[in-house]
Amino acid sequence: ESRALAPLAGRLIAVIADTVDEHVEELGRLDAVAGDGDHGIGMQRGSRAAADSVDAALADGAGLASLLSAAGDAWADRAGGTSGALWGTILTSVGRELGDTEVPDAARLARAVTAASDAVMRVGGAQPGDKTMVDALVALAESFAAEVASGASLEDAAVTASAHSTTVARATADLLPRMGRARPHAEKALGTPDPGAISLALIATAIARAATA
Ligand code: ADP
Ligand code: MG
Ligand code: MG
Repeated sequence: ESRALAPLAGRLIAVIADTVDEHVEELGRLDAVAGDGDHGIGMQRGSRAAADSVDAALADGAGLASLLSAAGDAWADRAGGTSGALWGTILTSVGRELGDTEVPDAARLARAVTAASDAVMRVGGAQPGDKTMVDALVALAESFAAEVASGASLEDAAVTASAHSTTVARATADLLPRMGRARPHAEKALGTPDPGAISLALIATAIARAATA
């Protein structure tokens, strides 16, 4: 039953909040180059609110979908900013694909990451190459699905996919932003990676590490 995995999902949300705490200044500095400098603070407010929502959800006996949807709502409500709304979408759409009843297998986890990536593109309107978190998220989803389909273990698939996401996030330094607040300052952003892509890859890496520990 998916309820049995809810405490694990709750611990992974705490891992997200800890990872953001460790990188809050770096993310703010990246966002200050061509944006408004609040990406670290916004991610911190959102991920803390998500982590704070977990105990109540567990006390209510939530399954994965309910726990992740409560966490996504809390994140979007408290973070403010574009990335907060999109992280709320990520958690909610992962949860919707996992459901409240069955224990998901690796193929369903891969579909959940793909569902999150599709939802972020639908809600935010960005495509790969626009220099946003979509670059890192699509890279993560495609690599994870390919690894799982080729028979890799969940742990190996998570490590390979998060490493690929990191490579793609860093390579956004060479792109000109076509979406969001950085777009009017596109030239300034050249040479600096997109903050939302970097935070997404940092979080994916921390989750992969926690899942393999
Ligand atoms: P804000 O831009 O509202 O201050 P943040 O600073 O928290 O919000 O987040 C900025 C990040 O949001 C960008 O680095 C980019 O990755 C992401 N972003 C902005 N617009 C979009 C969009 N339309 N689709 C996907 N991601 C986006
Ligand atoms: Mg910002
Ligand atoms: Mg802002």
